[in-house]
Amino acid sequence: MNYEGKVYRPWMEADSFLIQTTIGCTHNKCTFCDMFREKRFRIRDIEDIFKDIDDARNYLRHIRSLFLIDGNVLALKTDFLLKVLHKVTSTFPECDKISAYAGLNDLRRKSVEELKQLKDAGLDKVYTGLESGDVVTLENIKKGLTREQAKKGMAHAKAAGIEVLISIIFGIGGRKRSREHIVETTKLLNILQPEELAPMALTIQPGTILKKQVVSGEFIQATPLQILEEEKYLLENLEDFDMLYWGDHSNNIETLKGMLPSFREYFLQKVNHAITHHPVAGQEVLQTSPW
Ligand code: SF4
Repeated sequence: MNYEGKVYRPWMEADSFLIQTTIGCTHNKCTFCDMFREKRFRIRDIEDIFKDIDDARNYLRHIRSLFLIDGNVLALKTDFLLKVLHKVTSTFPECDKISAYAGLNDLRRKSVEELKQLKDAGLDKVYTGLESGDVVTLENIKKGLTREQAKKGMAHAKAAGIEVLISIIFGIGGRKRSREHIVETTKLLNILQPEELAPMALTIQPGTILKKQVVSGEFIQATPLQILEEEKYLLENLEDFDMLYWGDHSNNIETLKGMLPSFREYFLQKVNHAITHHPVAGQEVLQTSPW
């Protein structure tokens, strides 16, 4: 395959075949992110995308799931995306799941009718980063997303029947806004009610604006204890709607994966145990690995 630059996919999509439709991210300004920093956003030629799909068919006998990359693929015009989806479904009739990265603003900008067309053409699920529901934190990290925009984007996806996995970041408010970050994030999640949630502990990526802010002292990292307290607050205060909880990212202190609300008490037992017994809970900063 002709992948351009570093490619990323969610860990839940480890078995999916990756088709690169865009290069980079249209926003590319989040202070904590270095995923597409070296790439200028552009759309790949449709002939090149089709060639990748045909090439894949020649050497892969069975594709169960497929993931469209790079950054926010839903920024593509609907007609373009429909052509890609039709090519995928006609080439891989056995594929039973197609997912993509999408910004909540991309979902907001598309009409429900457009999203329904994409759903009918085979798009089952999108992965989107909310990171925080706290207005100040969203501004500090230059997310380019407001709470109202997030609500509208989510409402469009729900109306179209497209599943949404939302990722949030423990510790992204720093030491000073840890509480506000998790309280406001939990409130917003209770409104958005995504089908899946992936909470990840913050990692300071080399080369990012956030890394410079850490070095200068402008951003003070949350302690591991605060990160555990954030997860505890989240689990205690999410309302009773069905949601798959992917708290098993390698940077998280506890590995928690299962359906909420049924796993709530079990997860809380593990987090409470970590708060009192885990060796990192007494440390100043959580050691994490870059993505
Ligand atoms: S976090 Fe997402 S929206 Fe922000 S720069 Fe990275 S890829 Fe783009």
